[in-house]
Amino acid sequence: MVRVRFAPSPTGYLHVGGARTALFNYLFARHHNGSFILRIEDTDLARSERIFEENLMKTLRWLGLHWDEGPDIGGKYGPYRQSERLHIYAEYAEKLVKFDKAYRVYAYPEEIEKIREDLLSKGLPPHYTREMFEPFATRERIREYEEKGLKPAIYFAMPREKIVHHDLVKGEVVFSEGSVGDFAILRSNGVPTYNFACVVDDMLMEITHVIRGDDHLPNTLKQLAIYKAFGVNPPLMGHVSMILGPDGKKLSKRHGATSIEEFMERGYLPEAVVNYLALLGWSSPDGKEIMSMEEMISKFSLERVSKNPAIFDPAKLTWMNSQY
Ligand code: GLU
Repeated sequence: MVRVRFAPSPTGYLHVGGARTALFNYLFARHHNGSFILRIEDTDLARSERIFEENLMKTLRWLGLHWDEGPDIGGKYGPYRQSERLHIYAEYAEKLVKFDKAYRVYAYPEEIEKIREDLLSKGLPPHYTREMFEPFATRERIREYEEKGLKPAIYFAMPREKIVHHDLVKGEVVFSEGSVGDFAILRSNGVPTYNFACVVDDMLMEITHVIRGDDHLPNTLKQLAIYKAFGVNPPLMGHVSMILGPDGKKLSKRHGATSIEEFMERGYLPEAVVNYLALLGWSSPDGKEIMSMEEMISKFSLERVSKNPAIFDPAKLTWMNSQY
């Protein structure tokens, strides 16, 4: 049973790249008669806003990308929200401490920053180890934390080993030994970091395939190590290449309208937008360009997702819109 998710951070309006990720997940789920889940990754409390979350849901519905489960919000499915699951991440972080795969850090942020600066000044990569934090866990410091009502952060003990990842889009990706150091999984305010919350949720939500942008490949290394620490098999993963503007540079506001909201306002048809998004990195085996959602669902496969970046071409979108 295939289960995939779209896991946006509500820190901006849904743009072409995010919508394409949502669409590929949706097409994959529907092609395999599986489930498509929406999970709002709002653990960056300072940057996450409800208005962006609402925009995400509105635009996904406009595009016809309906998700299959979630808490009931008046007869409709709401999204899963990470900010409402903090107790779960705390519990799982404790499990890793118990398995000795993670440890508590009693250093204050400025002390951690000092360790980083010292490493950099010696020309070393800023990779933390358990030993570097041990001197801070004195009896006095632990008492100080208790008195101030502070909680230690929890860091993951990253194994220094080579990891070979078989990506559904990119093929074999080798992460060399020691390319990252230990990292925080739970901050001292009890909020998890992205990599940890993502793994805990993908595990608990029984996600079978992770399809996302290749900007997340460096995170994959950390996530695979966390799965291993839990003794759980990771989902299969496919990392989709990024979208570039017509000038070959990373797609951004400079290239004009790139949020789905703007396409809505300009009167594009959702069918045309979805059709255009599908062709950003995927192609139908028969070379057909104008397709209904049903046709795309029946033809979609990750094998036909390109390893190379896709180029966003507003003229092509406008032409496609005229075909509907
Ligand atoms: N919240 C992450 C993002 O918006 C999700 C990455 C993922 O799919 O794992 O980029």
